[in-house]
Amino acid sequence: MTWSRAQLLRGFLAAALAAGVVSGGCIKGRALASGGLKQFDSARELMGTLVTITIWAPAQEIAREAGEAAFARIAEIESLMSRYRAGSELSKINRRAYEESVPISDDTLAVLGLALEHGRLSDGAFDVSMAPLGKLWKSAAGSGRAPGASAIEKARACVGYVNIALDEKKRTVRFLKPGMEIDLGGIAKGYAVDQALAELRRRGITAALVNAGGDIATMGRPPEAKTWRVGIQKPNRRSGRLPEVVLLTTGAVATSGDYERFVEIGGERYSHIIDPRTGMPVKSMSSVTVIAPDAATADILATACSVLGPKRGVELTAQLANVEVMYAIAAEDGPAVVKSQGFDKYVE
Ligand code: ADP
Ligand code: MG
Repeated sequence: MTWSRAQLLRGFLAAALAAGVVSGGCIKGRALASGGLKQFDSARELMGTLVTITIWAPAQEIAREAGEAAFARIAEIESLMSRYRAGSELSKINRRAYEESVPISDDTLAVLGLALEHGRLSDGAFDVSMAPLGKLWKSAAGSGRAPGASAIEKARACVGYVNIALDEKKRTVRFLKPGMEIDLGGIAKGYAVDQALAELRRRGITAALVNAGGDIATMGRPPEAKTWRVGIQKPNRRSGRLPEVVLLTTGAVATSGDYERFVEIGGERYSHIIDPRTGMPVKSMSSVTVIAPDAATADILATACSVLGPKRGVELTAQLANVEVMYAIAAEDGPAVVKSQGFDKYVE
């Protein structure tokens, strides 16, 4: 069995409604006046998920225009970075970058720069060149049989972020090995959320929250509230011990979890997050929540920390300013929780 887009969207929609983004005690969909500002919520299907935007603004027209511009910015990034569209910049890079240096947009340059930086920081746990492995496991799911060791080795030989040559001056990218392909699925949504928020800021909005299926960034805070209160997606029903809400002002949070997206092959569940070093999907059934100053960083690190596991993931985030991580690891009697030292600053 493989994941379908419709199933995914249903899942995200359910999660969005269940987890709920509660802001300043307001109910979703209702505009409450506060200090001259009102809350406006809108939602759109973009980047294969449900994107919701909450804006505090003095008037509906202001919120509507700013929200439209923010959604348009996300759509623009999707059209550059989608791996499902043959005409995307990403698809063009994947077709041509071994043959020649491919000129790229400022957005793709920024995303690849961040991806390579975090490839180094995470010692290759985060690696956007994992696409050949992603494809292999996806087709295995289609055929119902796990790939053999030699197929994994063959795909793994094409993987390695060190073989992505990014020229920041000429603004080009080139692959140094044949058979390479990149997949921005572990970063593009977070980046898009940050850019949507920047678009709102440019239009004079001072308090807003953007949520793309669990990649969330906030700006300012709702009037009369100290912080945004952001619901954390729970790995399963027996998650009583987990904190339910994190408190944020001008910061971001992302959750990666194999409870949500996985493939089943021969009765075994395999995550869509792959350890590029072994070529194997991440095994443990857990969810990883990362708090960071921006959503691109949170998105990347949630994936990286899923690969690294709790011990090395906590070590990685400890090196980074204003970054915290929480693991919820599935166990018989509800998930075991591992948190970085500062995580509880964000919990009620
Ligand atoms: P989502 O939030 O969409 O559920 P994640 O943020 O958890 O996804 O990222 C998972 C996606 O990232 C995968 O679908 C794949 O596109 C990509 N990916 C998987 N493993 C890695 C990895 N080790 N490094 C970088 N990207 C990865
Ligand atoms: Mg993510």
